[in-house]
Formats: sequence, structure tokens, C-alpha cells
Amino acid sequence: RNPDQWCRSFCHFIGQCLIKDFEARPSVTHLLEHPFIKQAHGKDVALSQQLATLIREQQNVGIIMSLASYRHERINTRKTLIIESCPDDDLVNLEFLDEETIISHLQKRYDELQVYTYVGDILIALNPFQNLSIYSPQFSKLYHGVKRADNPPHIFATADAAYQGMVTFCKDQCIIISGESGAGKTESAHLIVQHLTFLGKANNRTLREKILQVNPLVEAFGNACTAINDNSSRFGKYLEMKFTPTGAVMGAKISEYLLEKSRVIKQAAGEKNFHIFYYIYAGLYHEDKLKNYRLPDKTPPRYIDSQHCKVMQDIVSSKLYKEQFDAIQDCFRIIGFTEEEVNSVYRILSAILNTGNIEFTAITSQHQTDKSEVPNSEALENAASLLSIGSEELQEALTSHCVVTRGETIIRTNTVDKATDVRDAMSKALYGRLFSWIVNRINSLLARQAKGEQKNGMNVGILDIFGFENFKKNSFEQLCINIANEQIQFYFNQHIFALEQMEYQSEGVDASLVEYEDNRPILDMFLQKPMGLLSLLDEESRFPQATDQTLVDKFEDNLRCKYFWIPKRVELCFGIQHYAGKVLYNVNGFLEKNRDTLPADIVVVLRTSENKLLQQLFSSPLTKTVMLPMQSVSRCLACFCVQYVHFVNACVQVDTMEMMRHPEETTNMRRQTVASYFRYSLMDLLSKMVVGQPHFVRCIKPNDDRQALRFNKDRVMVQLRYTGILETVNIRRQGYSHRILFEDFVNRYYYLAFRAHQMPEISKENAVAILKQAKLEKWVLGKTKVFLKYYHVEQLNLLLREVI
Ligand code: ADP
Ligand code: MG
Repeated sequence: RNPDQWCRSFCHFIGQCLIKDFEARPSVTHLLEHPFIKQAHGKDVALSQQLATLIREQQNVGIIMSLASYRHERINTRKTLIIESCPDDDLVNLEFLDEETIISHLQKRYDELQVYTYVGDILIALNPFQNLSIYSPQFSKLYHGVKRADNPPHIFATADAAYQGMVTFCKDQCIIISGESGAGKTESAHLIVQHLTFLGKANNRTLREKILQVNPLVEAFGNACTAINDNSSRFGKYLEMKFTPTGAVMGAKISEYLLEKSRVIKQAAGEKNFHIFYYIYAGLYHEDKLKNYRLPDKTPPRYIDSQHCKVMQDIVSSKLYKEQFDAIQDCFRIIGFTEEEVNSVYRILSAILNTGNIEFTAITSQHQTDKSEVPNSEALENAASLLSIGSEELQEALTSHCVVTRGETIIRTNTVDKATDVRDAMSKALYGRLFSWIVNRINSLLARQAKGEQKNGMNVGILDIFGFENFKKNSFEQLCINIANEQIQFYFNQHIFALEQMEYQSEGVDASLVEYEDNRPILDMFLQKPMGLLSLLDEESRFPQATDQTLVDKFEDNLRCKYFWIPKRVELCFGIQHYAGKVLYNVNGFLEKNRDTLPADIVVVLRTSENKLLQQLFSSPLTKTVMLPMQSVSRCLACFCVQYVHFVNACVQVDTMEMMRHPEETTNMRRQTVASYFRYSLMDLLSKMVVGQPHFVRCIKPNDDRQALRFNKDRVMVQLRYTGILETVNIRRQGYSHRILFEDFVNRYYYLAFRAHQMPEISKENAVAILKQAKLEKWVLGKTKVFLKYYHVEQLNLLLREVI
């Protein structure tokens, strides 16, 4: 019943005889065929029967777990230490550290459905593309306050490590999940939340339920079906789980970054709009849909599907969408949204769909050629009515705009193209603000739960950010996403690097050996002021006459570094050498996307709305200023390496100074460009991350066909390379990958220099004697440990085998 106890008795009893077989053929099926288990011979029949049942019941996981546990257990017989020294669930412990070995090793594990593997303190998660039975409550219990080596690698172990770190050291933690689109980041984030709610024993059941509803709700509005992933997150998400000092869950807070608003108005071929639009079509009552929400079933709204009309019927009758809609209704209710609020949300969504259907035609009269009108007013009236504003006012705001010159207000008409742009800008603004409102509302509903306790609380943050993107055509959205990833990668490098350096320094060993691919120059190129790419983009966005060409010219004139280039043959493009590969960006629409302007006329009209929610969305500039906790950043940065402190402090100072200088500008969202807001978001995110102790989860996509048990070596290799996994292993290879306490070293290898019965004293000198006798070179002695290269351990083990 108690797996831990069971593991131990199992280890002692049959471990010895099974381990060799398992090493020779590491397959569970083979183990089940083992005569010991089949015939139940030996002394303890009951145990072997129990074992066989367990193997079956636990679907092969139990046995692997037991073996892993056996390998890690300290065993007194010195001979068996050889086996113990290379447990295979951590890549760093492999004897051979070349790419090929690592890949084969991961493949072998993947074939056995061991999707998780450690690289030191990093967890690699291969997407299984099938449901595994390793996330049940039984497993939650297993990964509860245990040593990492006690169980096989697991996403729950990472959650447990973060939780333990928080409770033990009273320190905030953050779990950073990265990987390509479809690699499993969002699923991993869910599993972490699931396990943390278990560990944090939310004694308040309602609170636990509420927290578990947050992700599904936000994802209905922020996720969409893309060519790569049916449930692709189109925004970055940082979820903070809040705990009391004793470790009980007391709430959660969510921050969102960079929602891909452009998806509302247009989707690439084969892709879809945000899930929620489909859910309401399938979920709302037919009558309601027509009368209250003005959503006719037959004609597909332009924003949902402009290509295939017959798809509409599929959407309306989709069982899955209907179920999802019901689930979302439950989420709203459980979290605590009022019915009125939910109705307003649906009204705004329907208004957006109707807005998309508003069409314009040109009026050509004698004097004017640049005037537009709405020929068919149905969509216009529907949208206006759903937004509780006047349809004439809406039409006016779409087809004309006010200009103030020399104190006089002049009304100018909009061309068809301009009117269409204004229409789409309005839809994007509506959706973007609605999304932020939902997130803020969730936060305030969940914060209320934790009244009074918040001050002393601690938290575990979970970052699920869109992965690195490189499409055939890359635009402003991809640039922002990739810069965010560049930042995360930088943080990752610093962490790994800093840890390694710290250990070297504390042992008095030369730390200059720790080398890695530093992506800081690229980040500087993007973020520096005033000559970084984002600053240049902002500057250019301020000129009304600027064009895509002037932007490219500006970049070309000012960005001089090897990571940036202008391709000769392709027009209006620039290339960036990201840490994860080369990306060609097309600047078409960059300026407009960066300005993200919503004409004042539209805001004025929307403010007249009688809908309370809408009033809220547009009454004040959206309060989303980024507050940088200066003190905590500088305090917590103390443990990071010097360069990093300079870098972050410089950014923080520049930005804070700017905020103080132009407070109205930074609080007024309408005047902020996307790029500058994005920069603040990045800083905000970074400041949250550096305050906490980081844990990294690297999600890897084993194939592009979303198929279970298919391991594409090349694809995995590419991902391991650019996420720095291979480099991490490399750092250890170039540096001293094995650091063994003198005690362990002498105990393990004394046969090499002493006679078996001698039992030499444990000392630095005896460690040196062994090293010399083994004729090893290039090792280094620290204060308490022997520092060995990766191949040293291999050589020592070979020698040992000869001796024994
Ligand atoms: P990402 O957020 O990295 O884009 P997702 O987390 O949405 O990727 O995962 C994509 C798909 O892969 C999921 O919809 C699911 O089908 C599958 N998947 C990912 N992780 C797991 C897992 N641990 N177990 C089973 N299926 C998974
Ligand atoms: Mg995702």
C-alpha cells in the first residue's frame, strides 16, 4: 500500500537479481517475463505476487520507480557503488556526453514512456501526445515532500521542489516553462497548478475549485486553434499561486502578456479565431442567439470564417464546443462572476462579430472621392445595439474623424480603407480590453478569498509563455514573442551560469572555465535606449509620415551588429540571428501595429454606452501600469552575477525614471506604443522572476505530427540545441561535470591505489594518491571536493572494473 515502504523491501529482496537484467535489457516487458516474477519462487512468495500485481496495476511505472530508487540508495557494498554512480534519469550523470548519446538516451526513455528526464536541476518534458496514467492522486501523494532522487523525474517533482523551497526557505519561487508551440507548456502549467493545490492542501474546497477554473476560463478567451496546436496559447501567462507562511493555498493572481489581438479580425489560412467565439455559437440558446445576441446561425461572420460557409453548421452543432461552452459557464459561476457580467461579456463578443460584418462603400460625388458609407445597416445596428450606443454615432465615428487645427475642430471623412481599419481597430480594442478585464476580475475575485493574510504570504509563480516562433512570414507579433523568449533564455543562461560559477568560487576553483553562448548582445540590440531596435521603432512610429521603407532605412543606419542584417533580395525585410535561429521579419504594417491607435472618435462613442461593463472598459485609461518593485529587485539580484545586476538595474532605472518624468504618458495606455508597453511588461516579468528562486521546465516536441511514441531525432536535436540543453551539458563537459566529496571519492575508488583490506583514511591526500595512481590529468582539487572532467569518471570506472 505504501509505495515508499514497498520500494524499499522490494529493493532489498530482489533488487540484486533484477538489476543486472534490467541494465542489460531496460524493458518492463522483459522484467515481467523474469522467472522470479513469473514463478514466484524464492523465499517470499507473497512479496513476489504483490510485486507482479503492482507492476500491472501501476502500469509499469512502479517497477521503474523501484529500480530508480534502488539505484539511488546508498549501498554499503563498495562494489555496487559503480552501478549507483550512473543513475540514468539525469543526463548530467551519463558517462558519455555527446549529442548522439543524449538523444539516444532520451529516445530510449521516450519509447518506455518515460517522458521526463533531468539535466541537473532542469526538467526536460517530452510531449507524450497521449494520456498517461501518471497524474492521478496516487502520484500526487508520491511526490510529496520527498527527495528528488527517491522517484523518477516528474513534473510533480518540480512542483514539489518549488513548494518545498518556498516553505523551507520562506522564499518566493518561480517555475519557468518554455518550449516551442505545441511542446506541452500549457499542459505542464496545468499539472503544476494541480499538484500545487494538492500540496497546499487548500482546506477551503471552494478556493481550490476556483483556482482550478482559472486556467480553463482564461484559455477560452486567449487560446485558439493554429496550424501547430489545436489549443495554442495566444498570450503569455504568469500565474502566481499564493500561500500562507505555513504553506496553505490562499489565492492566485494571473498576469497576461501580449495577447495576439490581431487574431480577432484575421486568421491565417487553416487557423481559427479565439475559442470563445465558437463556444458561444454552439452553446447559446438558439432564440437567445438570434434575439439577444444578433448572431444568425446561417451566415458566418467575417471574423469567424470568411472562406467556408458550410463550416458554420459544424460549429453550431458541435458537441465539443457545446460542452466547452457549458464548462466556461461553470468557470464563470464558480469563480464568482455575476450573471449580469457574464451576459455583458457575451454581448460584447457578439458586438465584435457584428462589427466585423459592417461593410463600407465609397461615395463618389462631384467634390469628394474619399468618403465612405455603410450601405447595409443591419450589422451596424446590431453592433450598436449590443454595445448600447447609437448606431448613427457609431457610423459617424467609423466613417469620419475630427482633426483639431489652430483651435478649430474640423471633421474629415474616411476612405473605405480607412473606415475598415477603424472598424478593425475597434474590434481589437474591444477584445483586448475585455480580455484584460476578465483577468483583472478573476484576480479581484480570488484576492477577496485571501483577505488579511496576504501580507505575509509567499508565492510560486508559473510562467507559460508563447514559444519561439519562426514562420514563413514573420511580423511584429513574432518579433515581440521572440524578444520575450530571448529574455527568458538570457535569464536561463544567467541562472545556470551563476550556479556553476558559485560552486566553483566557493570551492576556490578558477571559474573562467564556465563558458556559454551569451545572448546578451542580442537583447541589448533590442532593448537598449536610445539606439535599440524597439526605441528606433518607437521613434519612427511618432512620425506620421514614416513608412515601412523609412523604418527599414532607420534600422539599417543605426543597428550595426552581427545579429542584424538587411537581406539584399527581399524587400522590406530584416533578419535577426536569434539564440534559437535566424528569423526574417517583414516590416509590412509594423508601424501601424506598434502604434495600435484607436481613434479618439471611437473612444468617445463607446464611452456613451449604457452598458456598465463597456463603460468600465473605456472610461479610464486601462490601469495596467507596470510597477517595478525596485527594492526587491536590487535586493534579490545580489545573488546574481555582476553583469546581470548592471543590466537589470540599468533597465529598471531607465524605465522608472521615465515613468517619473512622464507619469501621464506611462499611465495613459492610449498614448503608449505596443513596443514601449511591451518593454515594461518584460521588465515587470523579469522583476517577478528574479525575486523568486527559479525552476526550469523545458518542453520538447518529439514530432510535428502530434503522434504518440514517435521520436524524431532531428527535431529533438534542434530543440535541445537552441534551448541550451546541449550547451548546459556542454558547460559541464568543458568544466568539471563531476564534483565528488573527498569522502565519497576515497570510498568509491580506493581500490585503485590501496589494497582491498587497507581502508585508507578519508583525506585530500589520499584522494590525490588515487588520482595519481590512476594517471588522470587535468583534475582540480577544491576545498571539499575533487573536480573531475566528464571523461575522468568513465576512466575511473573502467579501471575499477579491471581491479575488482
Ligand atoms: P504549448 O502550450 O507548448 O503550445 P500544449 O500544452 O497546448 O502546448 O500541448 C499541446 C498538446 O499536446 C495538448 O493539447 C495535448 O494534446 C498534448 N500534451 C501536452 N502535454 C501533455 C501531457 N503531459 N500528457 C498528454 N498530452 C499532452
Ligand atoms: Mg500553450
